[in-house]
Amino acid sequence: MATKQIELVMAPGVPHFVGDGFRVHNFIPGRSRLSMKRMDPFIMLDYNSKYYFSPTEQARGVGVHPHRGFETVTIAYKGKVAHHDSSGGGGVIGEGDVQWMTAASGVLHKEYHEKEFSKAGGDFQMVQLWVNLPAKDKMSAPKYQAIENKQIPIFDLGENGKIEVIAGEYQGLKGAASTFTPVNLLNAKLNKDGKATFSFPANYNTALLVLEGSVVVNGNEQVALDNFVLFENNGESIDIQANEQAVVLLMSGEPIGEPIASHGPFVMNHHLELVQAFDDFNQGKFGYLED
Ligand code: MN
Repeated sequence: MATKQIELVMAPGVPHFVGDGFRVHNFIPGRSRLSMKRMDPFIMLDYNSKYYFSPTEQARGVGVHPHRGFETVTIAYKGKVAHHDSSGGGGVIGEGDVQWMTAASGVLHKEYHEKEFSKAGGDFQMVQLWVNLPAKDKMSAPKYQAIENKQIPIFDLGENGKIEVIAGEYQGLKGAASTFTPVNLLNAKLNKDGKATFSFPANYNTALLVLEGSVVVNGNEQVALDNFVLFENNGESIDIQANEQAVVLLMSGEPIGEPIASHGPFVMNHHLELVQAFDDFNQGKFGYLED
């Protein structure tokens, strides 16, 4: 199997706040080569690198906002976040848990630090990834998958560490989340000097993010904490070795290959569908969610 070559290694950019609860580095889209089209079906990635939030009585977060046409996937590494949406989905996710929300035809959504976490303060580290939907599913009913860490299948690598299969598969082990198109989302949790090998089809858009420690990719590329690696669309295999205890998120998905029209929280195929989304939102068709 040929090696998937590295196309680009990106250090995290200047962070910005989403609401007052998420201090994020944006990796997709908008920065040079990581457009929605380039990373399709992964159309947005905000990364809250580990950041200490001081204790507060008023939970920090982001208030009611709409989404249509895609899925929001939140992976918690440190801290706890509470979510609610207008289709009745919601809950609290903490370390190792995943919230997979299919906005599809439209939901209102709010995302806050969980109450007790807010009161105590602490380190907060999260990834929010937006996964695009194919045209035929963009207007399907919203749904919500609350995936607790204990529900995520684990591939044991012995002394090397383990792979958590959030979605897709790893060496035949199927992931916890159901997806609309082929998407692999894996957390590699490696011990010092631990190694793991991955294989994804050459045409899949593929990247990784280092959340803990640092790693060597494909035998010679040193990748530091909080850095993002984009792979070329050739070759299949990726090797990772941890310099120290490390956590790496790998994402690889089959491009949907349809036109993308996006504005803020709406990601559709054509401009007129965005106009429709704004009309529907303004007419209250996304439902109701208390602020
Ligand atoms: Mn949201």
